[in-house]
Amino acid sequence: MNQFDFDLAIIGGGSGGYAAARTAAGAGLNTVVIEGGKEVGGLCILRGCMPTKALLYAADVIHITRRAGTWGIRAAEVSFDFAQVMARKNALIKEFADDRLHQLMGGEFKFIRSHARFVDSHTLALSNGETLTAGNFVISTGSVVSPPPLPPLRQIGYLTSDEALELVEPPKSLIVLGGGLVAVEFAQFFARFDTQVTMVQRSEHVLRDFDTNAAEDLEKVFRREGITVFTRTKLVDAWRERDQKGITFEHNGQTTRVAAEEILFALGRTPNTSGLRLENAGVTTEGQRIVTNAQMQTSAPHIYAAGDCTGPHEIVHIAIQQGEIAAHNIAHPGQGRRIDYRLLTQVVFTDPQIGTVGLTEKAARARSVPYLAASYPFNDHGKSVIMEARDGFVQLLAGPKTGEILGGCCVGPMAGDLIHEVIAAMARRMTVHELAATPHYHPTLAEIWTYPAEELAKQIHL
Ligand SMILES: Cc1cc2nc3c(=O)[nH]c(=O)nc-3n(C[C@H](O)[C@H](O)[C@H](O)COP(=O)(O)OP(=O)(O)OC[C@H]3O[C@@H](n4cnc5c(N)ncnc54)[C@H](O)[C@@H]3O)c2cc1C
Repeated sequence: MNQFDFDLAIIGGGSGGYAAARTAAGAGLNTVVIEGGKEVGGLCILRGCMPTKALLYAADVIHITRRAGTWGIRAAEVSFDFAQVMARKNALIKEFADDRLHQLMGGEFKFIRSHARFVDSHTLALSNGETLTAGNFVISTGSVVSPPPLPPLRQIGYLTSDEALELVEPPKSLIVLGGGLVAVEFAQFFARFDTQVTMVQRSEHVLRDFDTNAAEDLEKVFRREGITVFTRTKLVDAWRERDQKGITFEHNGQTTRVAAEEILFALGRTPNTSGLRLENAGVTTEGQRIVTNAQMQTSAPHIYAAGDCTGPHEIVHIAIQQGEIAAHNIAHPGQGRRIDYRLLTQVVFTDPQIGTVGLTEKAARARSVPYLAASYPFNDHGKSVIMEARDGFVQLLAGPKTGEILGGCCVGPMAGDLIHEVIAAMARRMTVHELAATPHYHPTLAEIWTYPAEELAKQIHL
């Protein structure tokens, strides 16, 4: 008889945890998922990808409706009902969350609603008073909003992305602290619903991990749409005067003050591991982040981790891949499947969207990887001109000797979808020559990739 209650216990039923559970149950492991949230669904469904993308789509609709005259369409007196925009988002999220609950309760594995913490390396104490034991574990407890760097901010109050998703009225004015994905998406969403938005960002450009040309194109559009963007700032203070909240920061050697009705704090998230008592299980962390190897295994060999609690990329499909790899490696000891970030993809759902895969120029330079790059602008491309979506460009990076595609970047219409052509090409290790020779229908957005591919193919003689 097995000495443990379960072969595998998974802590957290979000994207990473659910992926691990499905894989483990499919491989025949006696599996339990323990989910401690008040609602079931995980960050992506409840307060991350899905609600934000539902709102950003509504922002695109109002933006295009206001510009209808461009195509000779009359849409007089365009207005909106913000509460209804939010209500539609809530209805969609309920649908997605109900589906996830249904999947979790489908009977392939046991599902327990409770908070878990380690008592020892094979035992969990649950908040419902029970304990359970397992031979293996996957920790997939996600992340929480990081604490604010300015203590006064705590006193005057601020919105996190969670609260911003609950508003029934847009604030008249908003200061967005931060310049990452979450910050830029919310900034444009509120701006398009008539909020006066000011972004205050520490680094030289928004989206500091992206290539400068991509970030600059987005900043240009933001400024054109009336968003004030301060970059290279140092936060000094936060304050409240009557019904206004304010931030003081250093910018270009001067002390600057900005005020607004609300402040959105979007300066990042921290792995959610503080309540797990990981020390009882011998699991090593760096700060709050659970350390794993490429097989998703922690310092305790029978305990694995997946998703935002281990990072290094807070992206859903990475959490899913990590969860699947962890469960596979537990079910098939010795096979040692490894996570590979060669095809790391990031999408920003602003307008223009940004999609990147593989190497950026910044990363190539930092790692001294030799490359050739070619790009092509959307303002010279048939389909995007038809759509009046002229901002942005596509860019390919290729090995100067091999022609292999090393990375792609798309700033423009449907960039989050368009980047998948490059992902597929890179997955098959295609060269720019092969991509250039691949038939593309005309006139489509996708055929724009053939221009940088052809340009690089001409330069690289195989
Ligand atoms: C505003 C916003 C927008 C985003 N947009 C995108 C996007 O467009 N695309 C994208 O790829 N990513 C996006 N992300 C990131 C993405 O949502 C996360 O990377 C992903 O959801 C992480 O999944 P996870 O399984 O690691 O964690 P989660 O989905 O957070 O799951 C963790 C689960 O563990 C449970 N839990 C925690 N502690 C315990 C415990 N002790 N016991 C039992 N249960 C516990 C929690 O209740 C939770 O359900 C966004 C994030 C935010 C905040």
